Order: sequence, then structure tokens, then C-alpha cells
Amino acid sequence: MKELQGRVIHKTEGRSVLVLTVPGPTFIGVGSVNWICGHCSYLLAQTMMPGQLDNLVIKCFSCGAFNDIRRRYERSWLRAIRFKLTQRQNP
Ligand SMILES: [Zn+2]
Repeated sequence: MKELQGRVIHKTEGRSVLVLTVPGPTFIGVGSVNWICGHCSYLLAQTMMPGQLDNLVIKCFSCGAFNDIRRRYERSWLRAIRFKLTQRQNP
């Protein structure tokens, strides 16, 4: 089982936001990925397929943080940071 954290975001304009109003994970699937809140580690979605919830924002029931559930986006965001750091080290 793989555990992934949502990326906590503050601006949700133009995004689909799923607001949890009852405790427990929003989705229970048949995959191998658990999504947890990036702020408090609350279980947001259980046993999902990789990429199944891409592009969704889930508002945490426990702490109210907006969690961006986008693995591809997260990776490209990290790549961009690494690229900038590399450029700074090798001008
Ligand atoms: Zn939370």
C-alpha cells in the first residue's frame, strides 16, 4: 500500500472541490494508494488506483485544509523547483 499526501493549497478558484461533511474517507476503491491530508494526515481516500483522483481538490474533514490530489502536477512542480536550483548552482 502506497501512502500519498495531498498538497495543501490555498487558492481553489476554477478547481472542483470535494467537501467532506461526514468523517471517514471520501472514496474507498480497489487500488493500492491511500491519500492522506498534507496538513494533518487524516485519511481522505482509501485504496485508490494511481491517478484515479487526479485534478480533484479534497477539503479535509478534520482540519479544513484544501488538498490538491494531483500526482503528475506535484511531480512537475518538484521538477521545476529542482531545475531552478540547478540553474542557480550552475550559472
Ligand atoms: Zn487535514
